[in-house]
Amino acid sequence: MPEVGISVVVPCFNESEVLGSFHTALMAALEPTGEHFEICYVDDGSGDGTVERLRELAACAPEVRYTSFSRNFGKEAAMLAGMRMSRGAAVVLMDADLQHPPELLPRMLELHRHGYDQVVARRDRTGEGTLRTAASRAYYRLVRHFMDVEIADGAGDFRLLSRRAVNAVLSLPESNRFSKGLFSWVGFDTVGFTYRGVPRAAGRSKWGGRRLIEYGIDGLLSFNSRPLRLAVHAGLWLFLSALGYALWIVANVALNGVETPGYATLITAVVALSGVQLATLGVIGEYVGRIYHEAKRRPHYVVRETDERGPHLTPGRP
Ligand code: UDP
Ligand code: MG
Repeated sequence: MPEVGISVVVPCFNESEVLGSFHTALMAALEPTGEHFEICYVDDGSGDGTVERLRELAACAPEVRYTSFSRNFGKEAAMLAGMRMSRGAAVVLMDADLQHPPELLPRMLELHRHGYDQVVARRDRTGEGTLRTAASRAYYRLVRHFMDVEIADGAGDFRLLSRRAVNAVLSLPESNRFSKGLFSWVGFDTVGFTYRGVPRAAGRSKWGGRRLIEYGIDGLLSFNSRPLRLAVHAGLWLFLSALGYALWIVANVALNGVETPGYATLITAVVALSGVQLATLGVIGEYVGRIYHEAKRRPHYVVRETDERGPHLTPGRP
C-alpha cells in the first residue's frame, strides 16, 4: 500500500446537491499533482441522501473514504473525525459547497513543499452582504483583543496542515472545539494567501444569524478566561466609584444636613449595578457550563457507518 501524500478532509451536511460536482472538481485538481491522495468525506448526520452519494463514490473510487455520523454533531466534530481518519503527510480541510475552490490546491501544496506547516487560504469578502462583512470584521477585532491566539480576518477552515500540525491539533483533548483557535494555538510556520470569495454552488448555508452568534460566543470564551478578568475589573471599578460616592454623601450630610434623597441617582445606580452583576454571573455561568461539559468527557461524535474497519468499526459489520 503506497504512502498517502495528501488527505483531503471534507465535512458534509446535507450536501447531496453539490457533492457530485465537488468531487469531480476535486479529482481534477488532485490527479495532476502526481501524489497519492485520499479523500475523507465525513457525513455530519445529513438527511438528504448525502451518505448514499458517499457510498456510491466510495464504491467506484478507491481513494474515497467516508464516515457517517449518527446525527448532526456540527462541523467541528466532522473536521475532527476527518483528521482522525486521514493518513496523509499533508491534510487539507475544505468545504463541500465549492466555496473553497479545489483549483487552489496546487498552490497550497507548493507552499507546503517550501516548508510551511500550515497554509491558510483566506477568502476576501466579495459577494457577501455588507452587514455580515461589517459584523465579521468587528468580531475578529474583538477576538484578537480577547484571545491569546491570532486569527486573521476571513481565515476560514480552508487550510493545509502538515502531519505534525494535524497530530498536534488531534492531541488537544477539549470537548468545546473552536478550530480556528486550535490551529493558531498549535503554531508552526504558517503562511496565507487571499482568494476571491464565491457564493456556494448549491444548497443552503447552515449558518443562520443565530448559529453565527452562538459560534462567536463559543470562540470568545473557549480560549482563555479574559472575559472573567474583565468582569472582575468592572466590579472593582464600580465598587471604588460607589465608595467615593458614598463618602461624598456622608460628607455632604455632615456639612449640610439631610437633603431630599435623589430618586434618579438611586434608580440609576441600582439598575446599572444589577446589569453588571447579571452579566458577570452570565460569564461565570458560561465557564461553569464549559467545565461541566468538559467533565463529562463525552466523545465528540457517534459513528453510524464507515467504509472501513479499524477504530470506527460499527458493530454488526464484517
Ligand atoms: N457543515 C457540517 N456540519 C454542520 C454545518 C456545516 O459538516 O453542522 C459543513 C457543510 O457541509 C460545508 C461546511 O461545513 O461543507 C461549511 O458549511 P456552510 O457552507 O453551510 O457554511 P458557510 O460557508 O456558509 O460558512
Ligand atoms: Mg459554505
